[in-house]
Amino acid sequence: MIEFEVFSDDPEVVELVEKYWSTDNNGKYLHNVADLLPFREITTTPKLLTFISGESRAWNPDNFCPICGDNISVRSRTDPAIKKLRRLSPCNHCQELQARDRARNLAVEQEALAEAMRKASDSARMLEIEYGQLPDDIALIVLALERAICPKLVEGVFETADLRSLINGPVSPLIERLINANVISDDPAFSQSGAYWLEDGELWFNMAKARYFLVPDRTYGASEDALTYLDNRPWDKNDELRSLWLDYATAECITYFLNQCGRYSLNPESKDVDNITSQIRVALDQYSIQELWCATWIVVKDAASLCKREFYNVTKATATMPGKLQRLLETVRKKQRLPLKAWTRPQQQPAGTLGELFYERYGLNESTPGAEAMRIFASPAPPAYDPFLESEIVQKGLIDVLVERIHHYKLGAQSLSIFAAGIREGLSIEDAIARLLCGLPSLQQGINNGGNLSDC
Ligand SMILES: [Zn+2]
Repeated sequence: MIEFEVFSDDPEVVELVEKYWSTDNNGKYLHNVADLLPFREITTTPKLLTFISGESRAWNPDNFCPICGDNISVRSRTDPAIKKLRRLSPCNHCQELQARDRARNLAVEQEALAEAMRKASDSARMLEIEYGQLPDDIALIVLALERAICPKLVEGVFETADLRSLINGPVSPLIERLINANVISDDPAFSQSGAYWLEDGELWFNMAKARYFLVPDRTYGASEDALTYLDNRPWDKNDELRSLWLDYATAECITYFLNQCGRYSLNPESKDVDNITSQIRVALDQYSIQELWCATWIVVKDAASLCKREFYNVTKATATMPGKLQRLLETVRKKQRLPLKAWTRPQQQPAGTLGELFYERYGLNESTPGAEAMRIFASPAPPAYDPFLESEIVQKGLIDVLVERIHHYKLGAQSLSIFAAGIREGLSIEDAIARLLCGLPSLQQGINNGGNLSDC
């Protein structure tokens, strides 16, 4: 039953409102709306409803505002709130208050975000680092980055979308490495809208929407000179470069693998891609990128043909790929099948600027056998100075005479024992050999004339 109150004292208006809302005991309206027309100058239903709601207020007593408890007004017989509502929502007045609160909170939040972004931008622009201290892998990525987006790297800001020519595959792992090494930083002042947000008072950002800049070197700033300085610093951390090469080569293989999956509409789960990624990374110790392209091609093709077999479906067939790759690499390793072929580089998969640098500086590319790449980046790098090779006795060729005499007198074991004991005690190469010559005088012949090693 609808209840109502009429604001007007005009009896005709009171009667009109009563006729509009009154029902029998079954809730059926007593008067058709059409029968209420015309009312004075009003000849249409919409105009009549506007007139009635201006002169009165009606409500279903079962429906009330959950906030202020007031009844929810209804405007016409077709209003949903005529019936008992299953879910009560706030009245118009309370909704307006809520909207005002929301707008106020939003303005406060936006101001707090803008302030946090200003502060973050200011402190990012204060950053400076020492390019001479940058790890080798980071330095190589920076040089590849310069090649990919020159001259934006030293002159402005860039975003991840600019980096497609850096590497084949996702660039975000490389960007994360550069951020963690403090060599690039995001600058909120240049970001796309929606890139930053606050969570528990902390500023977060979306990597794809943020914009980055090269953090300047303390001496050379962010300039071509700084990058030349970076290029000319010593490159001797082979383990860092080897790890970057493996990351790069793995990305090359996984990009190829995923492209092949796409061709056959296979959509491997991320755990299977992770498994294949780690198998590839290990296999790169032994095989070239081209051979692993061949291996993944075989695996994808096998899985694709499995889809068509009875008792298989795409999901089941796709899930067999990690196991297939493992078995394939094992049979190749055990020479139970022909070696992997070297697949040519697909046209749509260029090496990227990082790949170009690996080739120009280290001669590495997709055809380099894994073992060769590992040899190039052997760690630790051979020392530039070898005290034994640099010693006087080796330089003057006397060591050959000494070895000959040791051989002639069959004093190998004794000689080595005396020499090793001297080295263990901390003697220099020369002093250890001098002691050897003193201990075994028969070796002195031919040595005495050549040097001053036998002064015992
Ligand atoms: Zn209310």
